[in-house]
Amino acid sequence: MRFACLGSGSKGNAWLVERGTTRVLLDCGFGLREMAMRLIRLGIEPAAVTAILISHEHSDHARGAARFSAKYGCDVWLTAGSGMALENQGGLPERTRRVDSHTAFSVGDLEFQPFPVPHDAREPVQYVVSDGARRWGLLTDAGHVTEHMVAMLGDCDALALECNHDVDRLRRGGYPASLKTRILGRYGHLDNRAAAELLGRLVTTKLQHVVAAHLSEENNTPELARGALAGAMACEPDWIGVADQSQGIDWRTIV
Ligand SMILES: [Zn+2]
Ligand SMILES: [Zn+2]
Repeated sequence: MRFACLGSGSKGNAWLVERGTTRVLLDCGFGLREMAMRLIRLGIEPAAVTAILISHEHSDHARGAARFSAKYGCDVWLTAGSGMALENQGGLPERTRRVDSHTAFSVGDLEFQPFPVPHDAREPVQYVVSDGARRWGLLTDAGHVTEHMVAMLGDCDALALECNHDVDRLRRGGYPASLKTRILGRYGHLDNRAAAELLGRLVTTKLQHVVAAHLSEENNTPELARGALAGAMACEPDWIGVADQSQGIDWRTIV
């Protein structure tokens, strides 16, 4: 199994996980042409995508799903709440499959275990992906860490964790007060320190990859995110990957 990121941050998010000929997009937060360009950059033809999973209805995660699914003929998996929210926004894809927030399901050769997260969306989930032997956990867009999240992410071989902001930078920065309150809130986004604390509670001995994700371009830097996660791992900061807005992150193979 291997995974890559097409881009991560408030302007758009999409991840790709592959095993054999099964290729699944986790989120589809770029427009049609941008999605195609970013997939081809990773060596994948858009028509080779098997399915799309949408974590929640925010446009930086769901923007491209309806058109991508229609053009390339793949199903879009989402929770009932995400589906209703997208319908209200006028962006519900035609080919949808229902996700129960606690029930694992298979797409091709991969298994997806959703888990609910506290975020200001209608029924958001994040995912642990398994090929039967290895597990990759993806967590972004969570306002705080729940015991359930710790349990779900506890036994992974690779992780991508939201490091949205540095709290001091966000507080000092130029965002409107209401936006600061939202991001800092219990249903906002994980900051570097919270992500590091989460990582510190997980079994890290078998982690082959740790990637910082959904970094704010205003209120964070790759160095700060790397430093926080490296502290929790007791590893060199360079070992921590960063999925950024423009380039995402290249393929990482989990062996
Ligand atoms: Zn987001
Ligand atoms: Zn969100």
